[in-house]
Amino acid sequence: MIGRLAGMVAVQRRMAVIDSLTGLHTRRYFQDALTGLAKSPHHGAAVVLLDIDHFKQVNDTYGHDGGDRALREVAHRLSRAVRPGDVLARYGGEEFAVLLPRTSPPEARRVADRIHRAVRERPVPVGPAAEITVTVSVGVASMPADVTEPDRLPLLADQLLYQAKGAGRDRVVSPVPHPPATAAA
Ligand code: GH3
Ligand code: MG
Ligand code: MG
Repeated sequence: MIGRLAGMVAVQRRMAVIDSLTGLHTRRYFQDALTGLAKSPHHGAAVVLLDIDHFKQVNDTYGHDGGDRALREVAHRLSRAVRPGDVLARYGGEEFAVLLPRTSPPEARRVADRIHRAVRERPVPVGPAAEITVTVSVGVASMPADVTEPDRLPLLADQLLYQAKGAGRDRVVSPVPHPPATAAA
């Protein structure tokens, strides 16, 4: 009886941190990792947020199972495109987030570009004899270059992701770097 309860508690704990469809971390786990950054803000960090383009069409055309299959494949490609130590999470339905600890803005942009390419480079199977090209829109925000608080990183990344959608989707948007304040005119 105790053993069965302990097993149920363990399953509950796992469900809180691991997404059952994709095997990626949950949004809750991501949020805890982000909050943990506040202890060492001087190290800098970045967040990459991405959303699959026109995903409703995938469900409408290939059914929810086809959509689920595409989500699992995208998750797999993302996990191969990030670096060891990055925290990759399923952030929402077809939205994913990556926390990049100790990462400069140019390095964050490189990882975001690699993610963007990794998803679209080969067709994704969505049925027994059907495959489609999947694209994502991506926003990238860095600390301390763009924001001062870790909690602001996903908010800014989401705004930039929204800009990527508005500009036609299938692209990465990161803030334009400020010129150094000391640069001679
Ligand atoms: P946009 O390019 O603007 O992002 O268009 P979109 O069609 O992707 O728009 P939106 O983000 O509103 O749609 C997301 C869709 O993702 C709606 C929902 O049915 C689907 N979705 C969310 N979670 C899941 C899931 O777990 N499985 C499947 N198959 N579909 C999901
Ligand atoms: Mg969405
Ligand atoms: Mg979408």
